[in-house]
Order: sequence, then C-alpha cells, then structure tokens
Amino acid sequence: MNGCPFCSIVAGEAPAGVLYRDDRVVAFKDTNPQAPEHFLVVTARHIPSLAEVESGDEELLGHALVVARKVAQELGILERGFRLVANCRRQGGQTVPHLHLHVMGGRQMTWPPG
Ligand code: 5GP
Ligand code: ZN
Repeated sequence: MNGCPFCSIVAGEAPAGVLYRDDRVVAFKDTNPQAPEHFLVVTARHIPSLAEVESGDEELLGHALVVARKVAQELGILERGFRLVANCRRQGGQTVPHLHLHVMGGRQMTWPPG
C-alpha cells in the first residue's frame, strides 16, 4: 500500500535488517528494539491489523508463527524463550497499520505488559 512503511520494506524499497523473506512474510529487525533481540514478522500482503484478518488467512498466520519460531532459533533466543506480541489497533498500542508480530528475547520478560 502506498505510504505504508512495512509495504516499502516488503517491496525492498526501504532499508531494513531483513532476517527472512519469502512470498508470504518478511522478518526484519525492529528499529527501536525493546529487548536485546527484537524483530518483526510482517505479512507480504498489506493487512492493516488482526482486526481485518479473514477466514482463509489461517495458513498465512500459521506460517508467520512458524517463521517467528525459525528466526528466533537462528538468533539464539528459542531455548530460553521469547515474547510474541501482536498489537491491534489504537487501544492495543498499534502504531504501524500493517499486520506484524513482534518477537522479543534475550532478557527476562514481565507480565502483565503495560
Ligand atoms: P506497533 O507499535 O505498530 O505494534 O509496532 C511497530 C514497530 O515497528 C515499532 O516497534 C517500531 O519501532 C517499528 N518500526 C516503525 N517503523 C519502522 C521502520 O521503518 N523500520 C523498522 N525496521 N521498524 C520500524
Ligand atoms: Zn503495508
């Protein structure tokens, strides 16, 4: 989508520390990391948030989770564990309206989140 920062990264038009890419998802480092390791898994297709996910997106979302796990393993945060977050819309704290999973690890996480 025009003007969407994550669509620009998916298209290869904006620089990003890409960790994984295929035709369905792209994983890249978050520019403002909240943990020693913090990356995002975004859908290649522009879906604004989890609120717009539809029946038929099951395989895409499952694939995004498998990629999150695979990249977490490559970064060495699988064994000790990690936090996975999907902020949805305004009260969920979402700031970029393109569906993405946050994966954070390398430090002890606390609960509940703020
Ligand atoms: P949200 O607040 O929507 O859940 O998360 C958006 C995340 O994207 C934030 O953690 C923010 O640091 C990250 N972010 C925003 N713009 C960019 C960008 O242009 N490149 C990268 N790599 N990360 C971004
Ligand atoms: Zn987008």
